[in-house]
Amino acid sequence: MGCCVNCFNDKDLISYIKRRGVVDKCCYCESDNVKCLTEENLKVLFEGVFDLYTKCDNVFEEHYRVKNKIPQPESLVSLMQEDWNIFNGELLDNKNIAKVIYNISPEIFDFSSEALASVWYRESDRYYGYFTNKDWEIFCNNIKHKCRFNYNDIDENGFDPNQVFDKELFGYAHNQIKKGMILYRARDGYIIDKVKGVIKPFPPKKMGIPNNRIISNGGRANPPGINYLYTSDDISTVLSEIRAWKGSINSVAKIAITKDLEIFDLTNKFEIISPFFTMFSSLRKEIEVISILNAFANDLSKPVNPNISAIDYIPTQYICELIKVVGFEGIKFKSSLGNGNNIIFFTDENVRIREVKLVQVKNISYESDEYVSQV
Ligand SMILES: [Zn+2]
Repeated sequence: MGCCVNCFNDKDLISYIKRRGVVDKCCYCESDNVKCLTEENLKVLFEGVFDLYTKCDNVFEEHYRVKNKIPQPESLVSLMQEDWNIFNGELLDNKNIAKVIYNISPEIFDFSSEALASVWYRESDRYYGYFTNKDWEIFCNNIKHKCRFNYNDIDENGFDPNQVFDKELFGYAHNQIKKGMILYRARDGYIIDKVKGVIKPFPPKKMGIPNNRIISNGGRANPPGINYLYTSDDISTVLSEIRAWKGSINSVAKIAITKDLEIFDLTNKFEIISPFFTMFSSLRKEIEVISILNAFANDLSKPVNPNISAIDYIPTQYICELIKVVGFEGIKFKSSLGNGNNIIFFTDENVRIREVKLVQVKNISYESDEYVSQV
């Protein structure tokens, strides 16, 4: 009885059935002598997936759908296959897939072949379901132009970082930087020793966090007036980050980490391997968190551009502060200018500036592609 390993494509589900199933004949693809799992046992795994879709009777008028750019409704079978490629389409036709789905959770259907009727939407497309990276864009716009210092008071549904950045999410992105690790910080330029007629790197005390009296426009992570320590894990990345030009002479400090530090790590690949076995309490939450973390990581990696307004940095500054106040000591993310990673520290209490050397940039390589206007 039940459904067998051959009926599915999802590797994690297949290995689960291999472990938990019993050898039998499959009711759907008719494979014999294979590991099968009953519909009842599959139900608990499928609940998170079914939760992403909603059935629409005639409430969704066409003009509203077109106006809000909501895709046409489809069958539940095609949505689930497009999004997750769960079932083995070579062995099961759509009718059989609909039968499996119905038998797993008959109570969500009015009739047995309803999973084949074109009345299903993704809740995210209908935009009253879970949020995706378009909610990140709404958040960015709100915090720049509507409400900044008390964002949780904003009277709108959707993504509220104060709710979403919770214990579960912080645990997911948590990592450690070990004591003894060496990082680099670069500053454009050097000092001139007029007596000896030579140039020297900046002294170590000038290579830590800039004094808070030095008010810059802020960066992707730090707001104006609150300075952080920007480091990278290799020398060419740190030089790329300060946009050192060919021939320029720069001061580069070696930064040693003096104790194990808890950091928020955005260099992990945030992705869902299987919809059935999630890191979070629900699949819906995992989709939300991953989409927000990827949008945040992407914005944090964008190079600081002197031609854009300082308010464009506010969304990432806001999130960085949420991460800081729960006790993380820094944030690690991929550099978009070099091949390495950047690590930003909120304080320089647990780092020691070991030595500072002068380096001269020998070469810079650029890759380009023809620009095609989107408009
Ligand atoms: Zn089967």
